[in-house]
Formats: sequence, C-alpha cells, structure tokens
Amino acid sequence: MPGALIHIAAGLLSAFIVFRLYKKLEFSLAIFLGNLLPDVIKISFLAMYHKNLDLTGLIQSNYHHFTHGLANGLWFTLVFFIFWIVLGWLLYHYHFVKKKKFYEWEELIIFLLIGYIIHIALDSLEVFIYAFLPSIPIWL
Ligand SMILES: [Zn+2]
Repeated sequence: MPGALIHIAAGLLSAFIVFRLYKKLEFSLAIFLGNLLPDVIKISFLAMYHKNLDLTGLIQSNYHHFTHGLANGLWFTLVFFIFWIVLGWLLYHYHFVKKKKFYEWEELIIFLLIGYIIHIALDSLEVFIYAFLPSIPIWL
C-alpha cells in the first residue's frame, strides 16, 4: 500500500522532528499515531459496515471514497478532536484527573491533531504525487 507507506514515512519523520524539539517520546508517539489515524478511522468504519476485517476487500469497498471523505473532512476532524479535548477538561473539572495530567492530556491531543492534519494534507497532495506514478493505484 503505497499510500500507507507515505503516511508511515511522514509519521516517522514528524516523530523524529518532535523528539528533537521536545525530547518527549509520548509527543513523538502521538504525532506518529496522528499521521495514521485518519486511515485507521476510515478502515474501522468500513470494517464495521461490512462486518469483516479483510483489508483488501475493505479498501475496494464502494464506500471507501465516502469514508475517506468523512475521516478527512473538516467537520469530522473538528468534532473528533473537540470531543477528546472536552473529555480531558471534564475529567479534570470533575476531579478525576489532576491539573498536571490534564495539561499532559491536552498536549498529547494537540500532537495527535497535528499528525492528523499532516495526513489530510498529504492525502490532498496524493493526486499530485501519483500523477507522476500513474501505475500505482491510490488506495489509502
Ligand atoms: Zn488517508
């Protein structure tokens, strides 16, 4: 899956840059996972809909384009990240977590979001990238 490889490479590169800047492994991990998350969400939706885990079949699904548009879309991205940020805030507000943990949580979510946005940016460039590699299908 060339698409997946590009995202893994971008994830590793951003994890490396974040580590150089912040020296924190959990930030690196968050931005790495963020780079993979849109496709993980997309595939999860397809797997739930088709009730199977056959990756090749899911990628060829008629709904692939739809779930791709959804996971990469502005509204899904906004609602998804606002959900996690608000959840962190509520846990802190109702004293389930301490202030320090709350800040750590929000930082992780921010790095996850940055990775997510990098993925979307790469996906939108993908048509351009693959214009030079016409034999490779655009899968992820
Ligand atoms: Zn993607």
